[in-house]
Amino acid sequence: MLAHKTLKLSLKSLKEFAKKRLPDETLVELDERDECPLDIVRDMCSPDKLGIQLLFIPEEFGGMGGGTFDVYCVCEEMARIDLGIATSVLATFLGSDPITVGATPEQKKLWLSRIAEEGLLFAYGATEPEAGSDLAALRTTAEPVMQDGRVVGFRINGNKQWISNGGIAGAYTVLASTPSGPSWFVVESGTKGFTHDEPENKHGIRLSNTAALAFNDVYVDADRLVGGVPGQGLNQAQAVFGYTRLMVAAFGLGAGWAALDRAIPYSNKRIQAGAPLSEKQGYTHKLIVPHVARLEAARAYIEETAERIDSGEGSLNTEGAIAKYMATEAGNAAAEAAIQALGGYGYTHEYLVEKISRDVRITTIYEGTSEIMEMTIARDRWQLHLKTRGQHYHDRARELEDLHARHKDVGADTAALANHALAELMEKARIARLTRYQHILLRLGEWIAFAECAGSLARRAARSAENKLHEKANRRFDSAAASALSRVFAREAALKVVTEGLRWLTAAGGVNDSEMSAFEAMLKIPAVHHAQAGLISDMDFITDVLYARAAKPAIAA
Ligand SMILES: Cc1cc2nc3c(=O)[nH]c(=O)nc-3n(C[C@H](O)[C@H](O)[C@H](O)COP(=O)(O)OP(=O)(O)OC[C@H]3O[C@@H](n4cnc5c(N)ncnc54)[C@H](O)[C@@H]3O)c2cc1C
Repeated sequence: MLAHKTLKLSLKSLKEFAKKRLPDETLVELDERDECPLDIVRDMCSPDKLGIQLLFIPEEFGGMGGGTFDVYCVCEEMARIDLGIATSVLATFLGSDPITVGATPEQKKLWLSRIAEEGLLFAYGATEPEAGSDLAALRTTAEPVMQDGRVVGFRINGNKQWISNGGIAGAYTVLASTPSGPSWFVVESGTKGFTHDEPENKHGIRLSNTAALAFNDVYVDADRLVGGVPGQGLNQAQAVFGYTRLMVAAFGLGAGWAALDRAIPYSNKRIQAGAPLSEKQGYTHKLIVPHVARLEAARAYIEETAERIDSGEGSLNTEGAIAKYMATEAGNAAAEAAIQALGGYGYTHEYLVEKISRDVRITTIYEGTSEIMEMTIARDRWQLHLKTRGQHYHDRARELEDLHARHKDVGADTAALANHALAELMEKARIARLTRYQHILLRLGEWIAFAECAGSLARRAARSAENKLHEKANRRFDSAAASALSRVFAREAALKVVTEGLRWLTAAGGVNDSEMSAFEAMLKIPAVHHAQAGLISDMDFITDVLYARAAKPAIAA
């Protein structure tokens, strides 16, 4: 893990590098030209220039050994600059992941040292034309080549699709089926029979190089099989999902905030109907504040998960999925709202919010789509529901009620309502066997993510009040604002869980007319409605904080 001072210095260097090399005009130009600035990517990864990839590499291989929290902070900052460039750095990290978790000591030394010392760019080749979300449908093969009764190498045949850094990497980790199952191989660019296509013409992240790869009888020596034992590929890919999804979560968070941080100052200056837009409640409470609350809820979850991974709690794949789902959906919604917030200007290239909106769109697709995240979350938490005989979310709710007893103003009571209701919905779904409907299962994934983030944000607000936030935690908001943000988000989460939960469980035939009133009472719907009291004044307060102005009793019409 990095010392806090080192992290701060790295973030500062990153900001200065971006200011010098990637000013707004350059970003607009490169985006319009659909060009990956290879010199900039190389300088970012070069050890004698910015050397950002050193943060990801363990110290024993010449890196700085950044922990999960460090990586989250750096990824958020990179995304605030440009998500295409950030993706290029991420691709090297993803590409080296199977090596970090599964390689032999010799392989680790070879490849990780080359990334640290030479700034070698990697690409991660998993997806295929027919195998996207369902990687098990993989068709690329790696046939063992035998000599004197032993495997001396592999012959790789197949195609990969949508590979970030596909046309610019020096080395590729490639997932291919061996007779013992899927396995990772390292293939260097220039290897005979290995080619890549022209870069894709994409909707967004146009500064990143994305290309298809083709393997025609590509021979690699046996020592290019990651870990030396075939059939470990899917486990090696799974082992880091918590971590890598957290990185993409930080991308969604950074890009969402980048968009809002353009809309906020804009609305302070833009005068319409005699006053700045920032003083129009119908503007701020629709286009700004709800997005701030959702992004900060996602941040709370990301920070909590990063801290847990760093303290050795395992790979936390489901938590990584929740973080990615919430942060990237929130980032997309925020960027979309920022276009609206800038009106006609927002719709032009020059103001960059439309670029951010096109860029952040990828975060709900790569590293597992939002729908796959919903499924992952629901399946895992469903098992917890069954194992605890329906008590898992009631227990979480009770913890939040305890928190509320100690901190009355962090919205923990409302977050508890969301968690209790979730437990009731899951139990009803179990009794009526509703998870046989995939839509119900995936909606459960969504409600779970909202309820868990509400809990996380309430805990974060309480820690902030106690002055016990992680030393590297983001401190944009003081504890009063953090509490208000938590109350706003908890109200949204509770209302979403009960309203949509009742709707979809009824839609699937799980709640009949005779039990409707009793079920509504179990969900505590009136309490959730009652909890909405004070929402407008909390939003007014957050608006004042965002625009750095003294709290006012009411906002002008
Ligand atoms: C710009 C870009 C960069 C990328 N970089 C890389 C990279 O570096 N390396 C790499 O290996 N891959 C990369 N990818 C691939 C990316 O991870 C996949 O696109 C993604 O996993 C989705 O796969 P797919 O495109 O085949 O879509 P599909 O899996 O076909 O999904 C299409 C839609 O169906 C939904 N869906 C899929 N399965 C189900 C289901 N079982 N139930 C319900 N809904 C479902 C999905 O959520 C999605 O909405 C990149 C993609 C892009 C666009």
